[in-house]
Amino acid sequence: MSIPTELLHHIDGKDVPSVGGETFGVGDPVSGEEYARCAAGQAADIDLAVAAARRAFTDGPWPGMPARERAATLVRIAEAIEARADVLARLESFDTGLPITQAKGQAHRAAENFRYFADVIVAQHEDAFLAGTRQVNYAIRQPAGVAGLITPWNTPFMLETWKLAPSLAAGCAVVLKPAEWSPLSASLLPSIMAEAGVPDGVFNLVHGIGEEAGAALVAHPDVPRLSFTGESATGQIIMRAAAEHLKEVSMELGGKSPCVVFADADLDRALDAAVFGVFSLNGERCTASSRVLVQREVYEDFVAALAARASAVRVGPPSDPATEVGALIHPEHHARVMEYVEIGKREARLVAGGGRPDGLPTGTYLAPTVFADVPPDARVFQEEIFGPVVCVTPFDTEEEAVALANATRYGLAGYVWTGDLARGHRVARAVQAGMVWVNSHNVRDLRTPFGGIKASGVGREGGAHSIDFYSDLRVVHVAVADLAAPRFGAP
Ligand code: NAD
Repeated sequence: MSIPTELLHHIDGKDVPSVGGETFGVGDPVSGEEYARCAAGQAADIDLAVAAARRAFTDGPWPGMPARERAATLVRIAEAIEARADVLARLESFDTGLPITQAKGQAHRAAENFRYFADVIVAQHEDAFLAGTRQVNYAIRQPAGVAGLITPWNTPFMLETWKLAPSLAAGCAVVLKPAEWSPLSASLLPSIMAEAGVPDGVFNLVHGIGEEAGAALVAHPDVPRLSFTGESATGQIIMRAAAEHLKEVSMELGGKSPCVVFADADLDRALDAAVFGVFSLNGERCTASSRVLVQREVYEDFVAALAARASAVRVGPPSDPATEVGALIHPEHHARVMEYVEIGKREARLVAGGGRPDGLPTGTYLAPTVFADVPPDARVFQEEIFGPVVCVTPFDTEEEAVALANATRYGLAGYVWTGDLARGHRVARAVQAGMVWVNSHNVRDLRTPFGGIKASGVGREGGAHSIDFYSDLRVVHVAVADLAAPRFGAP
């Protein structure tokens, strides 16, 4: 596999360096060495990208294209992604440290995002309202204009497509700013878009540092929609800046999701789901079940089983098909996660992991780590660690389980395991989260709304919610009878 040593922006159909020639270095997590220089977008580059998108939007065919035709283009994008699935997975795994088997799943899911939104726009219809015999009112949905898409470093390609698919489906032109720690897989997008026949200027890509390229995109007056996925603190900065132009924002932010295990649950399945939920994707997953709450009667046995499974998880090179947990994204992130592990050792009982796995003396590896007896005021219980680290806490009653589940600032996801379905429904309703799974691990139907409450987000993506976000809705009122207005000023 050949890895590019230079990563460029893609503006108006062309690969270009930054106007001022700025670059930054990108490394891979296993060797820690720089493998490429990446163009570092500045305000001038964002200006060019937004201008190209604006031209494509106002003068080009994309926004006005019949839904069936635009959908056909989206399907061709999906096909172009699938044709590259192998290389895409290998680039993603190399750049992010994700295990190769899991990176492959992400490539297929990315293609599915485009197929799904192709279906949505073909099936879409608008509302009409008949006001007696006097008026016909009907809604028109129009693409909002240029959408700014800002994405994080975890599962980067999949999350980029999760925003690209609906924004393009809605008829917007876009400027994508991928995360600076994982820009590699996005470099496949220009050829994918060209092969699918997306007109020049509809898709633009500007790499760069968040505070430079990202901030310039947020501040640009010609970008009425901003879809952001990343940390809650960054979301707050972006919302403040977006308020200047009253932009509509979609915020998919951090999480610290509870997995509540009642004593009457199928404990084997609950264990499989708890282990997968926090250690898949290296634990660098917004919906990770990073707090496992277990009913006292089965607590000690469940902790022991969780610790044994965590200790047996295969940690290794991301490119090895046997690897279940790979390398963390970046030395800086690895250091941050390790800091939490040290904090956890002071706050709770370490029952698995807690350091570098045997046989991996270099690279950003961490043995899957389990802390038991974690009090709810512990930092490792409250703060998003975003790595293969899980906290386990006992509870006695359903009320206590719900109170513990809700005892953080986050509200992204929740998981409930119980043999009592009525309780499953009750707890699902009581847990403060945008998404709850009952007796299931995290399997998503793309039609369902995705997003969080509290510090985990603002707005929903998925299905019609995404199309709504990237559209302006207008109501047209037409008189079909003589609708006399009050005659102010008439003699
Ligand atoms: P981050 O907030 O550091 O960065 C995300 C993106 O924002 C990057 O592209 C970055 O360059 C950009 N950015 C940073 N500062 C900016 C600024 N001032 N203005 C504009 N853009 C700026 O997040 P991260 O560390 O890349 O990602 C991990 C976080 O993302 C975790 O908190 C995780 O939970 C969250 N996440 C949430 C979801 C979800 O759907 N809720 C999904 C995946 C990840």
